[in-house]
Amino acid sequence: MPILRDAFLALSTNSTARNFVIGFPLSRKITRRFVAGETLADAINAVQQLNAAGLLATLDHLGESVANAADARRAKDDYLAALDAIQQHNLQSHVSVKLTHMGLDIDPELCLDNMRQIVGKAQTIGTKTRIDMEDSARTQITLNIFKTLREEYDNVGIVIQAYLFRSDADMRELYAMGARVRLCKGAYKEPPDISFAAKKDTDANYLKLSEIFLAETDARANGAAPHLALATHDAQIIDWAKAYIKAHNVPYDRFEFQMLYGIRSDLQRALAQEDYPMRVYVPYGAQWYPYFMRRLAERPANVIFLLSNLFK
Ligand SMILES: Cc1cc2nc3c(=O)[nH]c(=O)nc-3n(C[C@H](O)[C@H](O)[C@H](O)COP(=O)(O)OP(=O)(O)OC[C@H]3O[C@@H](n4cnc5c(N)ncnc54)[C@H](O)[C@@H]3O)c2cc1C
Repeated sequence: MPILRDAFLALSTNSTARNFVIGFPLSRKITRRFVAGETLADAINAVQQLNAAGLLATLDHLGESVANAADARRAKDDYLAALDAIQQHNLQSHVSVKLTHMGLDIDPELCLDNMRQIVGKAQTIGTKTRIDMEDSARTQITLNIFKTLREEYDNVGIVIQAYLFRSDADMRELYAMGARVRLCKGAYKEPPDISFAAKKDTDANYLKLSEIFLAETDARANGAAPHLALATHDAQIIDWAKAYIKAHNVPYDRFEFQMLYGIRSDLQRALAQEDYPMRVYVPYGAQWYPYFMRRLAERPANVIFLLSNLFK
């Protein structure tokens, strides 16, 4: 239902709608389906439960498009605290970060400085970081910042969106670099001159792009092996990937599956039980509104779930 998707994506950046939804007492309760909670303690608890069930995690402290440098620095400090918690509690968890949360729109240098502190700290405690991909206006600068960080640290990965035409070239370049890439379909509203309008075309491109990383040819560069995170809840794509991995003997350290907290938990557990590396993206924090709206946009059934709770 593309109209519904567009409407919810438009609402995700609308401040009036935001104030209405976050002021609504039931919203918090409904959000808990997709968000681990508002505090770091909530997130730690969620990761401990996932780890106990054999699932890996990546922590996302919710937030994007901060208004000033002080907010960006506070957001960076929150990530440093999350890394402390990962170390203290011995969690099997990485962290995922949005560059607009680190001040990208205010000053790319400030953003890079914040990222250096996060990626550097993650490196010292032996864990990894991933830069989430936002809308297409920020794709190139996000890749540029990733490449700068990658020259300094080897524990930073990036995200590529299968709905963008440019992603084929980006995936090939990243593979040749030996980069760690999370491949997702893409969650933003993008214009038709740069992205696939039809979902079936994005789905087909997802397979094509995955193959660049899963293929047998080995283009290891700088001593680092390319790694693919297949971030999708699409059961058909997951079945395709499992068959491809088996047929081509893809080593298990070259890929992992990733899904969002609260979505297809059954499939997450099934994959972990089959011994596939399976990582769950665990969002937490008070700034849940845009994340929540993007999840509603992805699936009409979620809107029905929301409405039925509102009218109960
Ligand atoms: C770990 C992870 C990280 C991500 N990081 C980014 C990022 O950095 N940038 C970005 O643009 N996007 C990101 N995304 C979101 C992604 O781009 C898609 O919007 C989202 O994953 C839905 O696409 P899908 O691949 O699951 O396939 P779809 O074809 O949309 O869905 C397949 C099936 O999954 C289930 N499903 C999917 N979405 C939902 C939902 N919201 N609620 C309930 N069920 C659902 C349904 O059963 C559906 O039939 C990420 C996704 C994951 C899993």
